[in-house]
Amino acid sequence: TITRLISTVGETELWKTLPTPEIGGSGDKISHKFHNDPETIQMASRDYGNMVHEFPRAVFGPSSIQDIVLLIKSSYNSDVPFNIGVRGHGHSTSGRAMARDGVVVDMASFRKQRNNGAAISVSKDPLIGYYADVGGEQLWIDVLQATLQHGLAPLSWTDYLYLTVGGTLSNSGISGQTFRYGPQITNVHEMDLITGKGEFVTCSSQKNLELFHAALGGLGQFGVIARARIALEPAPKRVKWVRVLYSDFSAFTKDQERLISINGRKQKTALDFLEGVLLMHQGPINNWRSSFFPLSDHRRIASLIAKHNILYCLEVAKYYDDQSEKNVNKEIQVMLQGLAYIPGFYYEKNVSYIEFLNRVRSGELKLKSQGLWDVPHPWLNLFIPKSQILDFNSGVFKDIILKRNITTGPVLVYPMNRNKWDDRMSACIPEEDVFYTIGFLHSSGFDNWKEYDAQNREILEFCSNAGIKVKQYLPNHSTQEDWANHFGSKWRSFLERKHKFDPKMILSPGQKIFDTNY
Ligand code: FAD
Repeated sequence: TITRLISTVGETELWKTLPTPEIGGSGDKISHKFHNDPETIQMASRDYGNMVHEFPRAVFGPSSIQDIVLLIKSSYNSDVPFNIGVRGHGHSTSGRAMARDGVVVDMASFRKQRNNGAAISVSKDPLIGYYADVGGEQLWIDVLQATLQHGLAPLSWTDYLYLTVGGTLSNSGISGQTFRYGPQITNVHEMDLITGKGEFVTCSSQKNLELFHAALGGLGQFGVIARARIALEPAPKRVKWVRVLYSDFSAFTKDQERLISINGRKQKTALDFLEGVLLMHQGPINNWRSSFFPLSDHRRIASLIAKHNILYCLEVAKYYDDQSEKNVNKEIQVMLQGLAYIPGFYYEKNVSYIEFLNRVRSGELKLKSQGLWDVPHPWLNLFIPKSQILDFNSGVFKDIILKRNITTGPVLVYPMNRNKWDDRMSACIPEEDVFYTIGFLHSSGFDNWKEYDAQNREILEFCSNAGIKVKQYLPNHSTQEDWANHFGSKWRSFLERKHKFDPKMILSPGQKIFDTNY
């Protein structure tokens, strides 16, 4: 029984109420890896969102992949299977890595045990070129640092690097590189997964293709990602980083779309990174995602915001290496020629590659030092088809957001190309060739996050009423009907794959797709 499984960790009332799986002798090997002390339970019942708190019965600290296999098998083989959540770095919101009354696998403790470098290795293959084999529990910052030692790096990133490989591959992993290099899920050659039956399976585009596609963007529903083989390229050394300001949304998006239309992987005239962010009087001119504008310019930017209510900031970057700075300056000038930004509002920086990729870290540390990192984060992330982005601007940015006047976090707006995604994967995106990601990255107080939540609901309601074909990124749905709508034509295969790879619906209950507990 699971009581037997955990009996060695303490006879609390909590333990006595745990379900009773048959573990066939394997329990002895893992029984001491369960923890239920209040501090550990607290840790597993919190996430970056800090709004939902689900309490597991136990937290499992594996020291090997085999431990995770045994854990999942013990649930799968039981008459009363228990839920298993996988906590990468707990940086999702709304309890997605939690498991109410179940067991949470603490990948951070696994990471600590594998910090000897064994979990990230770099190699070369004659067919696919350079790659890194990386444990699913590893942080992207560590992947970056390890691969840079070989002069190499992955091409596709997230804005923030203190996220696990398993955590971002379960969503998509997007950033300003996505328009050109695709999301992180399309930069993976192969994975090892432990399915909901406790089977250890290697999958790729050559073998076990269905599981490979299911797990990428699969919200942790089909298996625990134990290893991912990530594509690498020679890393650039430096980055030319430019921001320009617009007051006209239509000119801003037209320019963004023009710039992302040049997107060949080897195309020299393409940018390496493109994003966009709103500047409004509710938020500071510089924010935790990066501080860019010189202090001496804050006043004139603020007066421009006062005049227009919202400014739109286009952010682009071009990597460079052996070339002199002069060359990259010329290249960027050519690329940005003819853009309709407000004259005189052009800002630039030259930074190292690692400084650019890790740009959010200093803001994080600053907020942490002020006790402002662990506040509630009622985030909303959306994908909007290009043809409806102007309607979204007038209905949401210019109406709901200005009217409610509560937005304090960064609001991101940037387009990407559908042809850089792979529709066979579980991730869901709009049907159009170009679509925008919108990220409302709110931070709130402990007493007012519901106001933000209400704003988020109003935005979704507006989209629904206006016929905007929105898809949520990092989706937060609570009914099967909403999930079926979210997945659309992929829903049937999502269900079939779930029945095939996790038939007892054990894995990642915090996504609230299948678990009847919620
Ligand atoms: P967790 O929160 O621990 O887990 C999230 C989900 O992933 C859970 O359902 C869990 O079951 C599943 N999961 C975790 N590990 C595994 C595994 N090994 N195998 C199978 N399933 C697993 N996302 C972007 O795409 N781009 C960004 O630029 C970006 N920036 C962010 C910035 C900040 C400050 C934060 C807090 C989040 C950001 N995100 C971004 C969102 C982030 O990618 C997701 O929330 C991601 O899931 C968090 O990773 P994690 O390791 O903390 O996962």
